[in-house]
Amino acid sequence: MKHFTTKDWIDYVRDVQTADVSARMKEHLENCEECRASFQLWSSVTKAAADDLNYAPPSDALRIARSQFVPSKPAGSFLGELMANLVFDTAQQALTAGVRSSSNVCRQLLYQHGQRFIDLRVEKAPTTDEVSLIGQIQESTSGKQTTMPVALCCGERIIQQTQTNDMGEFHMVFSPVEDLHLELDICEKKIRVRVPEFPDVGK
Ligand SMILES: [Zn+2]
Repeated sequence: MKHFTTKDWIDYVRDVQTADVSARMKEHLENCEECRASFQLWSSVTKAAADDLNYAPPSDALRIARSQFVPSKPAGSFLGELMANLVFDTAQQALTAGVRSSSNVCRQLLYQHGQRFIDLRVEKAPTTDEVSLIGQIQESTSGKQTTMPVALCCGERIIQQTQTNDMGEFHMVFSPVEDLHLELDICEKKIRVRVPEFPDVGK
């Protein structure tokens, strides 16, 4: 018995043969296990290919998948993504001669992370060596605020922890050390905000 080739069976399932050939192959199928296996394989492949064409993923899945392929910022490391950007710093502003000295005791900074603004006011206590940090976290999209944990860290070490109030405000007093940052627990993600150093501290 002469078998039909793979190509023949592909043509058969695609139904592109003459009625005559088709009929002979159909007849052959009844008696040949080997060709039946080939036929079954290629009919399931053809069906899968056809199903694939008809298949449209849910728009939500598509949107999520697309968001994964948004080109990342060139310098955007993993940490960079979680770092709030500094948008304003009084220490970088040109001050008039008369108020210049005050910049050493009070510094105001504004950070941005996505839709969030983080306002920091750092003030050196006049008599002690301590620094007072007043912050406010504001959402630019909605006025709704929830309290969130804020931690003051030196490297990996947590120095102080607090919680914002309903207005997104928090307050901390600490002895200044180098390399300080805040960790804000926003949506189960830790956002880092660098705490500025004071050039006059310890002098
Ligand atoms: Zn056969």
